[in-house]
Amino acid sequence: MIQGSTELVAIVGSPIAQVKSPENFNRWFADHQQNIAMLAIDLQQSALDDFVQTLRGWQNLRGCVVTVPYKQLLASRLDVLSERSIALCSVNVIRREADGRLVGDIVDGDGFLNAARKHNFAPQHKQALVIGTGGVGSAIAYSLCQAGVSHLVISDLSQERVEAFGDLLRRDFPKIVIGANPTSLEPFDLVVNASPVGMGATVNGPMPLPVALMETLQTTTLVADVVTSPAITPFLAFARRMGCPIQAGPEMALAQLGNLGHFMGVTPLEI
Ligand code: NAD
Repeated sequence: MIQGSTELVAIVGSPIAQVKSPENFNRWFADHQQNIAMLAIDLQQSALDDFVQTLRGWQNLRGCVVTVPYKQLLASRLDVLSERSIALCSVNVIRREADGRLVGDIVDGDGFLNAARKHNFAPQHKQALVIGTGGVGSAIAYSLCQAGVSHLVISDLSQERVEAFGDLLRRDFPKIVIGANPTSLEPFDLVVNASPVGMGATVNGPMPLPVALMETLQTTTLVADVVTSPAITPFLAFARRMGCPIQAGPEMALAQLGNLGHFMGVTPLEI
C-alpha cells in the first residue's frame, strides 16, 4: 500500500507497459518490508524538460530508471554523469541527491557482468567478443573494458558504428587490444550477442553469426545473449549443442536490479 510516508522511485520510457522493473522492485520492497514503491511513467517527449525540472524538486523521489527512448535524451539534461555515461552519451538510471541534483549512470554492462560472474566468468585478462554495438552492446563492451579484459572484439551490421565505437574504446582504454569483425571464435573466453537478432524467434530462427563461424566455438567459451524473449535464442541453443556454458537475457535483466537499486540508494548491490 502506498502511503503518505512512502518513498518513491520511478521508471520512465514510452511505451512503458512492457517493462518488468516495477513488479520486480515492488516485490523486493514488499518482501523486505521497505516503505518504498516504484511507479511506471509513460512520458511524452514534449514533456521531457518539465519532467527533469519536476525530478529536481520531487523531494520523496529517490531516483528513476530510464528506458527506451530516453536514455540519450535524458543524459544531456542531468547535472552529473558517470565517466561511462559521458563516453556513451547515455543513462539508464538517475539518482536524485538531497539537494535536488540529478546524477546519471548506465549500469547495463555491470548487470551483464554480475550475471556472468555467476557463471564463474572473471573478466580480467580475458578475450571477449561483443556482437552489436547499440545501446546495450556498447554499455557491455565499455564495462568489460573497465573490468580489465585484455582483448575486446566488436562487430555490428553498421561498419560505421564499429569504427566510431572502436575509436572511442581505443581512446579510453589504450592498453586493451580492440579489434573488429572476427574470423574465428576460438580465442574468446566470452561471446555475447548484444544485437536484437533472435528476439521473438523460434528454434530454427536467425543467429547473429554465420553457422561456419559458430562452429569454431570452444567448449570453454561462455556464450551469452541479451535477448530476453525467448530466453533460449537459436544462438544460445546452438552454443549449448556445441557444449558451451550459456547465459540467457533474463539473467542479465535480473542481475541488473541490484545495480539499479543500489545506484538509487534503495537496495543493496546484490539482491
Ligand atoms: P539498439 O538498436 O540500440 O542496437 C542494436 C545494434 O545491433 C545496432 O547497432 C545494430 O546495427 C546491431 N545489429 C543488428 N543486427 C545485427 C547483426 N546481425 N550482427 C551484428 N550487429 C547487429 O538496441 P539495444 O537497445 O542495444 O538492444 C539490443 C537488445 O538488447 C534488444 O533485443 C533488447 O530487447 C535487449 N535488451 C536486453 C536487456 C537485458 O537486461 N537482458 C536490457 C536492455 C535491452
